[in-house]
Amino acid sequence: MASTNTIELITREEAQTRPAAAGSCSPDLVKAPWNFDGGATPAYGPGASMADIAPAATPRQGQIPEEYRLAGDDELHAKIMAVKEKLGEKLVVLGHFYQRDEVVRYADFVGDSFQLARAAKEKPEAEIIVFCGVHFMAETADLLSGADQSVILPNLAAGCSMADMADIDSVQACWDQLTDVLGSEPDEDGRLPVIPVTYMNSSAALKGFCGENGGIVCTSSNAATVLEWAFERGQRVLFFPDQHLGRNTAKAMGVPLEQMPMWNPRKPLGGNDEQALQDSRVILWHGFCSVHKRFTVDQIEKARSDYPGVRVIVHPECPMPVVDAADEAGSTDYIRKAIDAATEPTVFAIGTEINMVNRLAAEYPQHTIFCLDPVVCPCSTMYRIHPGYLAWVLEAYAERGEVLNQITVEDNVAVPARVALERMLAAKP
Ligand code: SF4
Repeated sequence: MASTNTIELITREEAQTRPAAAGSCSPDLVKAPWNFDGGATPAYGPGASMADIAPAATPRQGQIPEEYRLAGDDELHAKIMAVKEKLGEKLVVLGHFYQRDEVVRYADFVGDSFQLARAAKEKPEAEIIVFCGVHFMAETADLLSGADQSVILPNLAAGCSMADMADIDSVQACWDQLTDVLGSEPDEDGRLPVIPVTYMNSSAALKGFCGENGGIVCTSSNAATVLEWAFERGQRVLFFPDQHLGRNTAKAMGVPLEQMPMWNPRKPLGGNDEQALQDSRVILWHGFCSVHKRFTVDQIEKARSDYPGVRVIVHPECPMPVVDAADEAGSTDYIRKAIDAATEPTVFAIGTEINMVNRLAAEYPQHTIFCLDPVVCPCSTMYRIHPGYLAWVLEAYAERGEVLNQITVEDNVAVPARVALERMLAAKP
């Protein structure tokens, strides 16, 4: 079986076995990711964010050698396992929850981006950390790992379209305008005009920006705790890049929608007037996840009609009406724990990435678990990590000591970025 057919086979199986599955979002899902490297108008490849154009500064992946492009599944499997055997504890392979099964099978740890970055930290004996996720995750692993460890992203073009929606220049320009309007001096309670908060799904440069400007990082698990931390220190928050996580979290904390203006980086003052910024509590960056914005209230209604009593859990990167209509909203870790804790056979309709949902369905056969979106549409950027790229970077290191596709965060960014991450770890609910 050619490795490039794997997604198609998953799609067929899903159509037969999953209650809500009905085909895939793109026929290009059957193609290998190297078919999309170096194109004239590079996007993120097949999947939910394929229509998002990668910004000019986004890393591009050059062609990988032909032997890895032509190799079948069995050959790639043999190559990868041989390197894992040879390197032993010197190598750690990390696989994100949203990663495809053909890659996750080689992971020593599977988890969300922050769990994985910490897992890397707990393996100081590993010389090489191969992160089967996306660019910002590999950066975070580099921030948290030791100086003598190298982090590799098997395909440099595995960016995150949401993270790429906020670049450091646009955020700095926003900050300068906010400072003009709101000043930079604390009020009589010592609270600064604005505290910057960046979601983990952002470049290291933005984490560094937050570290330098009294700000902090958050994950989808701790966003409310982090916002509380920020409100203790600031009159308002600038939240980037995900508007939905910011809005859903602040709304649940009682912040009125009219005090959450959106910042569109292409417009002066983000498309707001000065009064709206002065009255704001949370300024939301105009970013989103192309995977999670596919979920709709109609899908929830259909799930409830098809499966009365169904438990609907969605990720907080989903739009607000979807989160409001769901029974629960929470991070990937929350979703996993909620399913794990269910003692009676339960029907779960899940609003998050398809690879994770399918894996949960296989792991918990006592439950009926399906993705709210009937169309199989994986995260395009995760899709770019293919066993061919994994075999390529692993053999290069094992045979020649060559570190391909290394992700390194320079000290001028890494030092303040770690400050923002440490503030997050110290923030208590
Ligand atoms: S699922 Fe969305 S936020 Fe996560 S890596 Fe993919 S594009 Fe980025």
